Amino acid sequence: NASRNDLDAWWMPFTANRAAKRDPRLIASAEGMTYCTPDGRRLLDGISGLWCCNAGHNRAPIVAAIQDQAARLDYAPPFQFGHEGAFALASRIAALAPGDLDHVFFCNSGSESVDTALKIALAYRHARGEGGRTRLIGRERGYHGTGFGGISVGGLPANRKAFGHGLSGIDHLPHTYDREQQAFSIGEPEWGAHLADDLERIVALNDASTIGAVIVEPMAGSTGVLAPPKGYLQRLRALCDRHGILLIFDEVITGFGRLGFAFAAERYGVVPDMICFAKGVTSGAVPLGGVIVREAIHAALMQGPERAIELFHGYTYSGHPLACAAGLATLDLYRDEGLFERARTLEPVFAEAVMSLREEPNVLDIRTIGLAAGIDLAPSADAPGARGYDAMVHAFNVNDLVIRISGDTLSLCPALIVSEDQIGELVEKTRAMIRAVA
Ligand code: PMP
Repeated sequence: NASRNDLDAWWMPFTANRAAKRDPRLIASAEGMTYCTPDGRRLLDGISGLWCCNAGHNRAPIVAAIQDQAARLDYAPPFQFGHEGAFALASRIAALAPGDLDHVFFCNSGSESVDTALKIALAYRHARGEGGRTRLIGRERGYHGTGFGGISVGGLPANRKAFGHGLSGIDHLPHTYDREQQAFSIGEPEWGAHLADDLERIVALNDASTIGAVIVEPMAGSTGVLAPPKGYLQRLRALCDRHGILLIFDEVITGFGRLGFAFAAERYGVVPDMICFAKGVTSGAVPLGGVIVREAIHAALMQGPERAIELFHGYTYSGHPLACAAGLATLDLYRDEGLFERARTLEPVFAEAVMSLREEPNVLDIRTIGLAAGIDLAPSADAPGARGYDAMVHAFNVNDLVIRISGDTLSLCPALIVSEDQIGELVEKTRAMIRAVA
């Protein structure tokens, strides 16, 4: 019987002050597809933690690797030392990435990976004597984390307005979602590839010689599971090539199996100049993020008197030994259990199950791709977002279900270990919740 105030308290980001919360929802442990509350309730995790625990929770080999690493080497200062785990993980990640995306810069989160990629783009321009190419381009409805770079290229104006509207010199491509054209789409919608051509408009307004990079999520995850229309990313790549603009894929959600491949870049046959990753690289067990860059970018940065990136960017915890150990164990699990292929096999099963919700009350649209789905509910007439809010309360309190709800959009994104039975359970719990808030 949580009231709105209870849940607002729970949402508050300042978790340190627990006394300020009247009804903190606590979880005590987790295993595989479930969380356990302190009073012993088991919750089905339908969103892989927060789009991150792709191999499921508390997997024994990952736990063991972290424990073992903690006992041997807790920390290595990244500006003075390397360590085996960091090199091993970097080469494993590079081997999973397409083309000559061969070098990895480690950081600690998705937001840091985005700021790192944007800074690498600008440092690359600087190193090549193209310092005028400082404009950056994002996409409407893109989410790139909470750093200053991320909120600026991100396509959610509400996330910037309290912060001076973010950095200047940023443009946004239009988002590709159109309910009229693409309702109830499975996989890539047929309509919308031409929207990539808007890059030409931005180039015409600003001149290509002022533009450094474009950053997009191949599939916009947290803003509603918006898959790229067929051909869109290829078109964007071609336009970037034509104008000498770097293309960055933010694969913080799509990386590590969510779309059935190590990276979405592989699914779409498009090689970007950089890939941002985080979340799934450790299956959520330890914070870790990074940027994979193409050979030419690395070469340009690592020559000349300034060696820009080595000198001017990095984090205390870049390539942290515990994170790298967790990353290596996670990649082993993905490989040994064939989890990316598993996601590919389950994709149609998941899509069919989720699409069975289309006749439920207030369901305006459902989109599925890989093991991710976005479900839009009709907003209540007097209070947009309220239906989603009620659904969230209902999910936790009645259905023992954890999914992600923003506004009136529900997101499902189970771990890649999910069984067909658990997909059924996830969908039936979601159905019960949608009916309850009708
Ligand atoms: N990029 C994308 C595409 C994301 O989905 C997220 C987080 N949901 C981020 C960046 C930011 O990641 P973090 O919260 O780890 O900073």
